[in-house]
Amino acid sequence: MKIALFSTKSYDREYFDKYNNDDRHTFTYFEETLNSSTAEFAKGHEAVCGFVNDKLDKQTIVKLSENGVRLIALRCAGFNNVDLVAASEKSIKIVRVPAYSPQAVAEHTVALILTLNRKTHKAYNRIREGNFSLEKLTGFNLFNKTVGIIGTGKIGTAFCEIMLGFGCNILAHDIFESDALKAKGVVYKSIDEILLNSDLISLHCPLTPQTNHLINKEAFSKMKNGVMLINTSRGALIKTTDAIEALKNEKLGYLGIDVYEQEENLFFRDLSEDIIQDEILLRLISFPNVLITAHQGFFTKEALEQIATTTLKNISDFENGEYLENEVKIEDGKK
Ligand code: NAD
Repeated sequence: MKIALFSTKSYDREYFDKYNNDDRHTFTYFEETLNSSTAEFAKGHEAVCGFVNDKLDKQTIVKLSENGVRLIALRCAGFNNVDLVAASEKSIKIVRVPAYSPQAVAEHTVALILTLNRKTHKAYNRIREGNFSLEKLTGFNLFNKTVGIIGTGKIGTAFCEIMLGFGCNILAHDIFESDALKAKGVVYKSIDEILLNSDLISLHCPLTPQTNHLINKEAFSKMKNGVMLINTSRGALIKTTDAIEALKNEKLGYLGIDVYEQEENLFFRDLSEDIIQDEILLRLISFPNVLITAHQGFFTKEALEQIATTTLKNISDFENGEYLENEVKIEDGKK
């Protein structure tokens, strides 16, 4: 099958080429993001393959359909960037990679926590300059702290298990409670109880109309003073301008984010010689207690391998008219 892959980097090309057994599929790699302006690049391809910041809105989908596309193969889990109704109207099927090493994201979440807490990034720079002082590097023990986890799906569960290993008390909130986690000592509570009682809050629910700006001014007002907030899920779960206020008034003691509301204009690119125009991001970067990574939670060898193999299987199943086990349907968008 001929597939146009958008938003591709060298590592996408490496893994897709490696797992394209017998050169079964033909790939055209584009570095551009997929949106209504670039949709016509897909002409002559039956499938497009997109990632988290491709904009598959109605306009894009109509153009893809006009150009003969019958399948959208997402090489990510989230599908909040796809207009499912528009795709259905155009009889375009959507498939995704529902799980690619949840441990990759859970472990990156822990990396953010430990870096913010023990300030290893600052220690690294100090030592290189011959500064062996410990001043201002004080951290805190994770043992016995209360960790609030919103969303205990695949990644949230992996994260719970790691934090239980640290000896933390885990409060969780999800619309579906996990008996397996309860048996391990996780206690399900309302969101308000999590906000009120947690020393550290980590977000692992998807971005939906219900969770958009879940963490806003009102939510910050309920949190403990000096709380640590971590978001490796989707940027718009946090209203960033309210997070900046909470950092300024010291309600928020630490912020670690792998995702950002306006990340599609920034992340996955080298802008080191550009003038960054995003004042909100620049303000965030200016805080000493904020750590930002550019959506790299998924970025392990194991996850890249699984993304490529699952996406290629999804495409082959579609080509062979087989059952699509990873299909995204309209009703999935309403969950
Ligand atoms: P998942 O579907 O297994 O789990 C999501 C959980 O959130 C489910 O248990 C669901 O019931 C729960 N949920 C849904 N709505 C909720 C609400 N309103 N309140 C509380 N809980 C709610 O998904 P996952 O694989 O664990 O991924 C979680 C999120 O992580 C994804 O949606 C995606 O946005 C993000 N993600 C980030 C990266 C990264 O590189 N940073 C990589 C993969 C996924």
